[in-house]
Amino acid sequence: MKRKINLQFLFVICMTILVTMILLTTIFTEIFKEEVMEDLSTYTMELKSIGVFENMDAIEGDTFQEFRVTLVKSDGVVIYDNYINPNQLQNHGNRPEIRDAIKQGYGQAIRKSETLNKSNYYYAVKLENGCVLRLAKESENIWSILMRFLPYILVLTIVLVVITIIIASFFTRSIIKPIEKLANDMEHMESVTTYKELQPFIDTIVKQHGDILRSAIMRQEFTANVSHELKTPLTAISGYAEIISNGMADEADVARFANEIHRNSNRLLSLINDIIHLSELDVMDNAIEKEEIDLNTIVQTAVDMLQLSAGKRQVRLTMSGVASIFNGDKMMIEELVYNLINNAIRYNKQDGTVHVEVYPADERVVLCVTDTGIGIPKEHQERIFERFYRVDKSHSKQTGGTGLGLAIVKHIVAKHNGDISLESEYGKGTKITVWIPV
Ligand code: ADP
Repeated sequence: MKRKINLQFLFVICMTILVTMILLTTIFTEIFKEEVMEDLSTYTMELKSIGVFENMDAIEGDTFQEFRVTLVKSDGVVIYDNYINPNQLQNHGNRPEIRDAIKQGYGQAIRKSETLNKSNYYYAVKLENGCVLRLAKESENIWSILMRFLPYILVLTIVLVVITIIIASFFTRSIIKPIEKLANDMEHMESVTTYKELQPFIDTIVKQHGDILRSAIMRQEFTANVSHELKTPLTAISGYAEIISNGMADEADVARFANEIHRNSNRLLSLINDIIHLSELDVMDNAIEKEEIDLNTIVQTAVDMLQLSAGKRQVRLTMSGVASIFNGDKMMIEELVYNLINNAIRYNKQDGTVHVEVYPADERVVLCVTDTGIGIPKEHQERIFERFYRVDKSHSKQTGGTGLGLAIVKHIVAKHNGDISLESEYGKGTKITVWIPV
C-alpha cells in the first residue's frame, strides 16, 4: 500500500511537471514568435516609410546586415536580395507572405530553417510602386527553446521528485501508522491517536470486538450452566441405579428409585430439547420460513391442551380472542404461546386464574397472558429472559422448568421483529404481552 501511494504521488508530480513544461514552452514560444514578428514588422514599416525601395538605384550593397531584405515585383520576380544573388532565386509569387502582401497589403510566415532547431521569420509589405518588400530573420523555434530550458527542467524535476518522495512517505506513514498500531493492539484501541476519517472504522471495530468478547463470555457461561444443569439429574440417575444394582434397595425402594430415575431422565430430555432448540434459534440466520397463521387458533389449541395441567393445579384457565392473522413460523409461535401459558399456570397459586387474550391492533397481532400467580420481584424482572435464570430454582425444577423457556420466547419474538413486555407485582400476578408485526 505504502509503495502504491508513493508511486501514485510520483506519477502525479511527473505528470504535473510534464504538463506545466509543455504549457509554459508553448506560451513562451508564442510570445517569442510575436515579438520577433513585431520587430520584423516595425523594421519593414520603417524601411517602407523611408521610401528607399521605391527607387532601386538608391540601395547600397550591405546596408541591412541584420535582416535579409528581399524586394519582389508584383509578378513574383525577385529584383533585390541582400543575401543571395536575385538571379539565383526562383519566382517568389507563391510564398504565402508575398501572396498575402499583394492581396491585403502585408503578410507574414514562419518556415523551417536549413539550420537545425531554427526557423525563418518573414514579414512582407506592399510598396506604393506595387512591389513587395520582405524582411526575414532566422531565430529560435520551440525545440531550441525547450533545449535551452531542459537543464533547468531536469534540476527542477529532480528536486520536486525528492520533495514528493519525502512528503509522500510522510503522508503514507501518518495514514498507515495508526492502522498498524490498531492492528497490533486491539485491546487498547481507544488510546491510539488517529484521524477523523478513521474514527467510524475504529468505532465499528471496537463495537464488534466488544460484541465478540461479550458473546464469548456468554457462551462460556452457557456451557458452564449447561454442564451443571445436566450433571444434577445425571448424578441422581447414576446414584439410584447404583443402589439398585448393588441390591441395597428393597422392593418398595426399587419402585421409588425407578420413579426418580424416570423423573430425572424426563428432566434431562426436556433440558436437552430446550438446549437444542435454543442453539437452532441461534444459528438460524434472520430469515425464517413464514406462513399465514391465525394466532387465535394457535392459542385456542394451546389452552385446550393445557386445561388438564391447569386443573391439576386448581388454576382457572380462560381465553378471549378474535381471528388475528399474520405471517410467522407456526412451530415457533406454538412454542411461544405454550411456554407463556405454561409458566402462568406453573407459577400460580391455588384457585388462581390465567387469562389469555388475542387481538389484532395497528398492523400487529397482540398476545396477552395475565395470571394471578406468585408474581416476580422487581429486582428479578430484568433478568428472567436470560438463559437458566430463575427466581426460585427449586420451584422451577419441581414444576419441570429448565430455565430456558423465556429465553426461547425472547428469541422467537426477535426472529419475528416483535416486542415483548412484562408487568408483574410480587405476590399478586404477572402480565406478559407480545406484539408481532403482521
Ligand atoms: P423455567 O423453566 O424456570 O420456568 P423460564 O425461562 O420459563 O424458566 O422462566 C424463568 C423464570 O421466570 C422462572 O424460573 C420464574 O422464576 C420466572 N417466571 C416466569 N414466568 C412467570 C410467571 N408467569 N409468574 C411468575 N414468575 C415467572
